[in-house]
Amino acid sequence: MKKIKHIALVAHDREKKYLIEWVEFNWGTLSDCEFVCTGTTGRLIEEALKKKGVNTKIIKLKSGPLGGDVELSALIAEGKIDYLIFFWDPMEPQPHDVDVKALLRIATLYNIPSAYNRASADFLISSLLFNSDYKPLVKDYLSYVERKIDGEK
Ligand code: PGA
Repeated sequence: MKKIKHIALVAHDREKKYLIEWVEFNWGTLSDCEFVCTGTTGRLIEEALKKKGVNTKIIKLKSGPLGGDVELSALIAEGKIDYLIFFWDPMEPQPHDVDVKALLRIATLYNIPSAYNRASADFLISSLLFNSDYKPLVKDYLSYVERKIDGEK
């Protein structure tokens, strides 16, 4: 049986309409996936899909500035997210900038296929690897985890 893909979808406010358009446009490819979103992004995607007659279950975390990006980072660290599509706004400062940075860092650390704009999202879902059982390699951090701290016996 094919493993269900867990896709995280996040967009900053001025980017939300573009992410919704992208999801609607690509619904044929995405419909088998499970979605995890920050709160407002998830609510708006759900509402937009409902208007098109699609009822899909979206896991909605807290809103990004209220901890949603941090929750999502934790899910990535736990290996529960396969892809991250995050349309962040390059023209607007965010109150939770440090959380955004953490999310980008964790996605990179765990080598999650990620797209941060529409063109890269298009490339990601049209890759032959998208529907495969691709497992990102994660570097071996054992020597870091087991490092000796000054004064440790
Ligand atoms: P939101 O959060 O979907 O709740 O608006 C997005 C974000 O800013 O990370």
